[in-house]
Amino acid sequence: MATSVPYEEHPELAARFPELHPALTAQHAVMEANRCLNCFDAPCTAACPTHIDVPRFIKKIATHNLRGAAVSILEANVLAASCARVCPVEVLCEGACVLHHQQQEPIAIGRLQRFAMDTFYAAGGRIPQRKATARSQSVACIGGGPASLACAAELRQQGFAVTIYERRALPGGLNSYGVAQYKLRTADSLREIEQIRALGVTFATREIATEADLKELESSYDAIFLGVGLGAMHKLGIAGDGAPCLVDALEFIESYKLGRREDVGSHVVVIGAGNTAIDAAIAARRLGAQTVSVLYRRGPQQVSAFDFEIEHARHEGVTFLWGTLPIAIHHAPEDERTTLECTRVEVNRHGDFVLTADSNFTLECDLIIPAIGQSPLLTFLQRVRGLQIEKGRVVIDRASGQTTHPRYFAGGDCVNGGREVVDAVADGKRAACGIAAALGTAKEASHG
Ligand code: SF4
Repeated sequence: MATSVPYEEHPELAARFPELHPALTAQHAVMEANRCLNCFDAPCTAACPTHIDVPRFIKKIATHNLRGAAVSILEANVLAASCARVCPVEVLCEGACVLHHQQQEPIAIGRLQRFAMDTFYAAGGRIPQRKATARSQSVACIGGGPASLACAAELRQQGFAVTIYERRALPGGLNSYGVAQYKLRTADSLREIEQIRALGVTFATREIATEADLKELESSYDAIFLGVGLGAMHKLGIAGDGAPCLVDALEFIESYKLGRREDVGSHVVVIGAGNTAIDAAIAARRLGAQTVSVLYRRGPQQVSAFDFEIEHARHEGVTFLWGTLPIAIHHAPEDERTTLECTRVEVNRHGDFVLTADSNFTLECDLIIPAIGQSPLLTFLQRVRGLQIEKGRVVIDRASGQTTHPRYFAGGDCVNGGREVVDAVADGKRAACGIAAALGTAKEASHG
């Protein structure tokens, strides 16, 4: 299915960023599917936030019913093609596979899911449209990321009119802009979004930012879903923060994915050690950096990145500097030379960081990539009257996704603080069911 948004993949991207897990052949897929024990009360299904019926779809692959496999997956997760590529399966479904207890390799669930979805879509398959009575009520989803996409798809399936408001040219949020290219190509994200558009979801390229914008939506729609994600990445807050060679990790990933950056220089420093930091570090190596150093103030046991991501980065030639704190950026405009001054730190028994005496050193940098987390979109969220926010996160009813403003529902990163794509999908679908239940008991369309 062709995409209806302006995007063309940069010709060199495929060569520089071959996929991390290449597609399975049909023969391999069937062989792998036949290893599955089709467990009753399958722990792999329980470990999936969207509860895909793993043994069911794998059995269909084993019996060459690929359409049936894809349809079964889509019943649980409309972004299954993306999730098959980006899910940390090692700690979710595959991590729970019973074959671990038999000292065997777990079933390659992620790759089987991708095989089923890619084959289905390549054959012209569409997300099956459920038979539902058309509803006169309509819903606005603010933000075009995975949570809104899942919410919108479910609401359309239940007969509601839905419009997704996204400020950027491409829908998809992090799926289109912020996930490493070797995991998920922007083109693949957009192709999947076309499937959701084909359900009848309307996409509007418009920023919803002001109180007037919100009032307008409130008067036009029966419910509003907040799938706004998180805001800008945190600043380093050290001397020299603002030097020209600084670019935050999400901006960096977006710039090379969209073909705006092809060169990173020789020496790159990434600050932070979460999964986004690792994605940026690996990308910098693949874009030609001779050295890529990841600085983290704590030790390897405290990183938020998964172990397999750290191993992957090491394999790509990334160096980790544990217990290291950046303290100043020195930029000499005359020769465009930049160095990052660092110091070693330890954590004392009270949990405080203590600088190690005489441990300062400098690193040459052509590019510094801070990846120390994103801040919540507080200014915007506070414009929704009556919305309770705790520690920067929108408070919701866990069963329905409803916020403390009864017409607003929320899900994804603005609620969970930044988790996996599959968590956002689960949130969006749950909120859609919450909205449908609320509107099903409400009188039809009394706006204002
Ligand atoms: S736990 Fe493993 S073997 Fe059991 S159903 Fe899931 S994938 Fe198959």
